[in-house]
Amino acid sequence: MSNNIVIAIDGYSSCGKSTLAKALAKKLHFIYIDSGAMYRAVTLYFLRHNVDLNNHEQIAEALKDIHLNFHSRDYQTHITLNDEEVSEEIRQMPVSDNVSSVAALREVRHEMVKQQQRMGRSKNIVMDGRDIGTTVFPDATLKIFMTADPKIRAERRYKELHEKNPDITLEEVFENIAHRDYQDTTRAESPLVRAPDAIILDNTNMTPDEQLQFALDKVDTIK
Ligand code: C5P
Repeated sequence: MSNNIVIAIDGYSSCGKSTLAKALAKKLHFIYIDSGAMYRAVTLYFLRHNVDLNNHEQIAEALKDIHLNFHSRDYQTHITLNDEEVSEEIRQMPVSDNVSSVAALREVRHEMVKQQQRMGRSKNIVMDGRDIGTTVFPDATLKIFMTADPKIRAERRYKELHEKNPDITLEEVFENIAHRDYQDTTRAESPLVRAPDAIILDNTNMTPDEQLQFALDKVDTIK
C-alpha cells in the first residue's frame, strides 16, 4: 500500500485553485499538477486538427496522437503537446471557449484520468481541477473545494488576461467563466461537484496568503 500524500483542490473556474495549489506545493515541497492544462492542451490539438466532437473514431485516433508532458520549473505550469511548449497558447480565448466541450467527452476524460492517476502514484502531490477529489483520487488525503463570487472571479481573471491581450473585455471573461461553470457542473461524465468530505474554501474576501494559511492549517490536521 502506498502512503504518499495527495491533496486534491477542486472548484469553479477562475477561483484561484492554481494559485493556492502552486503555493501549497512549493511550501510542502510536493509536486504540483494542473489537470486543467491537460484538458486545455487536448483542446488545442483538437482545434488545430479540426477534430469533430461528434465523431468517436476521430476522437480516439486523435487521443492516440497526443503526448503531454509537464516540465515543472519553479512551480509554474509548463506543458508540452507532442514536444511543443504550449503553456501560453492554452490560456488564450479560443481554447478557453472550447475546453469544457472537449472535457465533457467520455474518451477524453478516461484518458486524462488514467494519466493523472499514474502521476499521483507513490508521490506527494497537489493536483487541482474539477473531479480530482471525486473521480481521480477519491481517497485523497485532503480535499479542498474552492469557490468565490463570480464577479470577483471574472475581475481577477480579466486583470491577468488583459496584460497580454488588451482587446479582451470583462464581459467576455465573465461570460466564458459562467459558461464553463454551467458546462462543467451539468455534464454527464464526472461533473464538477463537491466531494462530501471536501472542505469548502470561499476566497471572495481572502488574500492569497490567507488562503494558503487556511490550507496549511488543514494540512497540519492530517500530518
Ligand atoms: O482549470 P482550468 O480552468 O484551466 O480548466 C479548464 C477546463 O478544463 C475547465 O473549464 C473544465 O472544463 C476542464 N477540466 C475538467 N476536469 C479537470 C480539470 C479541468 O473537466 N480535472
